[in-house]
Amino acid sequence: MKISVVIPCYNEEQNIPILVKKLTEVLNKYSDYEIIFVDDGSTDATLERIKELVENGAKIKYLAFSRNFGQQKALKAGLDYSTGDCLITLDADLQHPPELVDAMIQKWQEGYDIVYTVRKEYPDASFLKRKTSWLFYKLLNKISEIEITPGTADFRLLDRKVIDILRELNETFIFLRGLVSWVGFRQYALEYTPQKRYSGKTKYSFKNMILLAITGITSFSTRPLHLATFLGLILAFLCILYGGYAVGITIFTDKTVPGWASLIVSVLFIGSIQLLILGIIGEYLGKLFIESKRRPQYIIKEKNCEK
Ligand code: UDP
Ligand code: MG
Repeated sequence: MKISVVIPCYNEEQNIPILVKKLTEVLNKYSDYEIIFVDDGSTDATLERIKELVENGAKIKYLAFSRNFGQQKALKAGLDYSTGDCLITLDADLQHPPELVDAMIQKWQEGYDIVYTVRKEYPDASFLKRKTSWLFYKLLNKISEIEITPGTADFRLLDRKVIDILRELNETFIFLRGLVSWVGFRQYALEYTPQKRYSGKTKYSFKNMILLAITGITSFSTRPLHLATFLGLILAFLCILYGGYAVGITIFTDKTVPGWASLIVSVLFIGSIQLLILGIIGEYLGKLFIESKRRPQYIIKEKNCEK
């Protein structure tokens, strides 16, 4: 039985040594394991720290990207190169307690194919981050066919069956949380309290969170496109009513000149709705355009292992 642990890192130099220390304490109990670090184009000494550990004989594999491709791509790369019977993904900043690994493996041995985690409280996150995250999952669950428990992150165990399926997926815009829910199988949810980030600061700015949310929604639902049709229908109906009224007062009364306010309001309103709908359509069209190029999901500049 071999356990793979995949850790995406983007400028996490301070966190690597302590994380490896804690992880090996847990993993040494098991007969065989590998730790795969995916360096997502770090500009600090993250890669050097990893190489030092490799030289000192730790069971570490690493992949280094040629630039920053994002956490989801880093996780996918780790998945592609893993050789274990199961795989655990966790963050490099020690927010995901390595101690939970035992519980995850136990559930896996009981026969679950996916053991995902749900965070209880989130001491490190701002009010805004907690609320927007909650809102995002509510929205996604409402408008897509998949169901994701609010508070799940990329901290989970996957069985080899699931890894092999996810490896085959070549989409450019990956949203693993959605894909893991989408594949099905026997899933188990573990609760945990996330720790404070050990060192460094979060790599997810508000902008990055919005981008991930858009990827999540547009990868799993085409329902936002229906909004265009729906709003178009309502507006057309209102226009017919208002048109009738306008024609009516022109024919039957002589007070037709004033009306600048209603004119400007309706022009602005319809204009902004059109822009919104164009934006939604553009989101999908843009994604389709990028996907159609079939570019590789990531580029590796350096590694110490093969697939
Ligand atoms: N990460 C990455 N590439 C990125 C952004 C983040 O590999 O472009 C990694 C990061 O090093 C960390 C994990 O993804 O191990 C989660 O990021 P972070 O802790 O910054 O997110 P938060 O916990 O604040 O949501
Ligand atoms: Mg974090």
